[in-house]
Amino acid sequence: MIRIQNLHKSFGTQEVLKGVDLEVQQGKVLVIIGPSGSGKTTLLRCLNLLETPTKGVLRISDVQLEFGEGRKPKPSEVLALRKKTGMVFQAYYLFPHMTALQNVMEAQVQVLKKSKEEARRVALELLNKVGLGDRADFYPHQLSGGQQQRVGIARAMAVSPDVLLFDEPTSALDPELVGEVLKVMKELAREGRTMVVVTHEMKFAAEVADRVVLMDEGIIIESGTPDQVLNHPSSDRARSFLNRIA
Ligand code: ADP
Repeated sequence: MIRIQNLHKSFGTQEVLKGVDLEVQQGKVLVIIGPSGSGKTTLLRCLNLLETPTKGVLRISDVQLEFGEGRKPKPSEVLALRKKTGMVFQAYYLFPHMTALQNVMEAQVQVLKKSKEEARRVALELLNKVGLGDRADFYPHQLSGGQQQRVGIARAMAVSPDVLLFDEPTSALDPELVGEVLKVMKELAREGRTMVVVTHEMKFAAEVADRVVLMDEGIIIESGTPDQVLNHPSSDRARSFLNRIA
């Protein structure tokens, strides 16, 4: 479903991604871990082109784009790739002046050009799925952080993306609200959604990930099953990171 080859990203003179290769099979969950500043978020943002890679090849589903050395995808190609992904952000970027329902309808109407009726039907289905069917008419400020983040997940799913991307979806939440969001993510994984998740939740990684990659200074230094990466890392750098967060 996803193939990344030799992906590089620089901000000015700072090279943040230094050649990342990665594959995610359909229906699998990839968890990305690593120290702060190692490039995890930048990698995720490159996947839906919120950041434009400096160099490399990026393929999601049947859309493949190449970057670097004069290669620049056309806007229509960028849009095609972006439509393959739904992103859940660290802080829930819901539209504050719209209800939960309207937030989940918005992209369906604006991007997919669905009728309002159809968008409303799908939005209600998705809000039920994340356990918020009874909160459809609430505004974001009337919802807890965990509920807002679940609306964020429903919104990301509303465009029927092939891949769901999660950028530290629980790190802005109060500890007691983390569980309800992870529960929804676990259900999505069980249903066979293809997911890429940047997180510090090692228990989630151990339980839900099919593969874990550990990034450090812009490269992947460990890649394997959760047990391999979390319990039997091969490098000193990986061991030292895992010891620090244990
Ligand atoms: P992580 O998610 O692993 O904490 P990030 O991908 O957020 O790492 O950041 C990696 C590096 O890239 C950091 O040094 C950060 O300051 C830098 N960086 C990220 N985004 C930008 C940006 N838009 N402009 C300049 N530097 C950035």
